[in-house]
Amino acid sequence: MPTGQIFINGKWQAPLTGETYAPINPANEEAIAPVAKGDERDIDAAVAAARKAFDEGPWPRMSPHERGRLVWKLGDLIQQNLDEMAKLESLCTGKTLFDSGKVEIPFAAEVFRYFAGWATKIHGETLQLRDNAFTFTLRQPVGVVGAIVPWNFPFLLSSWKLGPALAAGNTVVLKPASQTPLTALKFAELVAEAGLPEGVVNVVTGPGGKIGMAMVRDPRVDKIAFTGSTEVGKQIMREAAGTLKRLSLELGGKSPNIVFADADMEAAIRGAMTGIFYNKGEVCAAGSRLFLEDKVHDEFMSKLTERVKGLKVGDPLEKSTRMGPVVSKQQMDTVLSYIESGKQEGARLVAGGGRASVGNGKGYFIEPTIFDGVTNRMKIAREEIFGPVLSVIPFKSVEEGIAQGNATTYGLAAAVWTRDVSKALKAARAIRAGTVWVNAYNLFDAALPFGGFKESGFGREMGSAGLDHYTEVKTVWVDLS
Ligand code: NAD
Repeated sequence: MPTGQIFINGKWQAPLTGETYAPINPANEEAIAPVAKGDERDIDAAVAAARKAFDEGPWPRMSPHERGRLVWKLGDLIQQNLDEMAKLESLCTGKTLFDSGKVEIPFAAEVFRYFAGWATKIHGETLQLRDNAFTFTLRQPVGVVGAIVPWNFPFLLSSWKLGPALAAGNTVVLKPASQTPLTALKFAELVAEAGLPEGVVNVVTGPGGKIGMAMVRDPRVDKIAFTGSTEVGKQIMREAAGTLKRLSLELGGKSPNIVFADADMEAAIRGAMTGIFYNKGEVCAAGSRLFLEDKVHDEFMSKLTERVKGLKVGDPLEKSTRMGPVVSKQQMDTVLSYIESGKQEGARLVAGGGRASVGNGKGYFIEPTIFDGVTNRMKIAREEIFGPVLSVIPFKSVEEGIAQGNATTYGLAAAVWTRDVSKALKAARAIRAGTVWVNAYNLFDAALPFGGFKESGFGREMGSAGLDHYTEVKTVWVDLS
């Protein structure tokens, strides 16, 4: 893929600023490659191309069979370019090559294939209401979609938007996070290779706030699909009111991982580890609040802290590494300041607590960190840290565990660990979150909707629910009298 360029209307071009910037590899603090520093004028051109492709081009008009085949082909091309895409993702994000190559990129390919199948299954309804009328509904594409994605799962979260948007016949302007643009640019190359009509997918890179907001304000954009922080989600909602855009917002979380005393302890420990240390805790659904029933608290904690010692922090491209660096210096400083706040508020530090020393001392590595004796009032239990920092909160009864788990402004995900099916199902009903895992953590499937309650946002991604908000329902009334 050409360096320093953006992809508009099926063509690579220099940004109008003529400038580039270099994303930084968080594992060694070195510049990765020059990337175009687009601005509002480039967004203007990309939106114009997407608008024209939607209003006049073949994409929304082509047979859904054909469109579905092209979306499927994108999935195939992603799979064929897996190694390169995984490496690009790991270089920018600091996630291990295992996570990029075995989890994120293959999952994204699967998402395209899943939604390819939906292209032929989008339909309205016929309603027989009166003799002198024929009434039915159509489900039509929304139009131009602005997709804004964060840096933690850059390509996977793009696929959650691109897959349904394209299958339903929309056109898209994709804006990756400025730290992690390379897989989006590689994808643009695959879009051209697959033979999608020009203007259907456009990719603009540059400073996120500036060009993201330009897209949110643009009246020619019909919908914004955003994943990112709750704070920026709220800003987007305010700005989108100006043009009353459709919005789906996948925002932050502070998810409770609740272990009851009758749980399979080994499995729950593995779940606690995956819940918070997978992808260095940079997971919107991270199980960052671990609730332990007091009867098992001490035994659980001694095993958990033992297990954490064996978690190898290091170069994400090395096979033996289990946890890479956090994404940027800014993120490292944020996480370290939360660790400091935990210490000051009186939580008990039982593992980690600072930068991890790896190699020559370069890189934004943080030790897997656990605080015990946390209360829900502490900042480390209330705010999303988005790093490898676990807050452990003891509880005494089932009711208390659930009530404390729900005591958050967020509602993205949760897990409960128990051998008692009735307790598990009652808890699953009572927890106010978009996903509840029982005896598992961080499991996702292209066919299962994912999204938030409360300040974790609204709208669902993946599954049939993930398709709904890429279509508008139209009523057609034919008078027969
Ligand atoms: P962020 O909100 O800072 O940025 C997200 C995206 O928005 C980036 O592309 C960024 O460039 C862009 N952006 C920033 N300011 C903008 C503005 N004013 N207008 C328009 N766009 C703007 O989030 P982040 O730091 O990249 O990602 C971490 C956050 O994302 C966490 O809060 C995490 O929980 C959340 N997240 C949520 C989910 C989910 O599915 N719910 C998944 C992953 C991450």
